[in-house]
Amino acid sequence: MLQLIDSHCHLDFPEFDQNRAQLIQQCRDRGMLAWVVPGVSHQSWLKLRSLARDQSFIKPAFGLHPYFMQQHELSHLDVLPEYLDCGAIAVGEIGLDAFDGSTDTEQQMAIFKAQLAIAKNQRLPVIVHSRKTQDLIFKAVRELHFQYGGIMHAFSGSLQQAQRLVDSGFLIGFGGAASYDRAIKLHRLLRSLPRESIALETDSPDISPSFARHQMNTPVNLFKITEILAARLDLAPQELARQTSLNVIRLLDLNVEVAGAGAGGEANVKPGLAPR
Ligand SMILES: [Zn+2]
Repeated sequence: MLQLIDSHCHLDFPEFDQNRAQLIQQCRDRGMLAWVVPGVSHQSWLKLRSLARDQSFIKPAFGLHPYFMQQHELSHLDVLPEYLDCGAIAVGEIGLDAFDGSTDTEQQMAIFKAQLAIAKNQRLPVIVHSRKTQDLIFKAVRELHFQYGGIMHAFSGSLQQAQRLVDSGFLIGFGGAASYDRAIKLHRLLRSLPRESIALETDSPDISPSFARHQMNTPVNLFKITEILAARLDLAPQELARQTSLNVIRLLDLNVEVAGAGAGGEANVKPGLAPR
């Protein structure tokens, strides 16, 4: 059994409408403890909220994802706090995406900063998407004196960029991208970071891992991803699962128990993070 938390999984997406219940059961049978499911647009929040109400191991976050800029309206920011008040564990998925170069970075930045301010107000961490924008994200976090940390999901920056974020209370998310043999930079990053600052994720249905590259990604793949990454770290998969789950529980203040972890022991609040 691997006591895993998938720290970034879009289980609410329509891709999972046909087999969501089976996938959840399959993962639960193998030890999955919980899923962090970040909402990406106002249109998706209602469904996510009801999913999380039905299943206690779905931990919802609500946010406006930079990839869906065309769908966002300023009025969505006004209702975001209402959604956060219903048991949200973070604000997300928020961030900046400069992948195709054509996106309106200024507009993205305005919405990102507005959501960072809401997270600060609500004393919540953030789930962050960043493509080629690591420095801009860090700058915004510093400018707003944001102290509640978060998870930098599918991280692809440098060790120096990762370390600055870790020092600001962030976890660095690793998943399918690091399962490829050619992902040497990610392997090096994984080995260089303190184990206390790593989170595991699938980002399913996106970012298919090496062993299922032509299939839709699902949370079941996190078990094998964990085995592959644990081998890179010379760790037992059980130990990597346990450590990363404790990291996520601590950061997001999740009501989830890891067998074999002393109460309040390793899950203690990390120094450097503001109390909530
Ligand atoms: Zn995502």
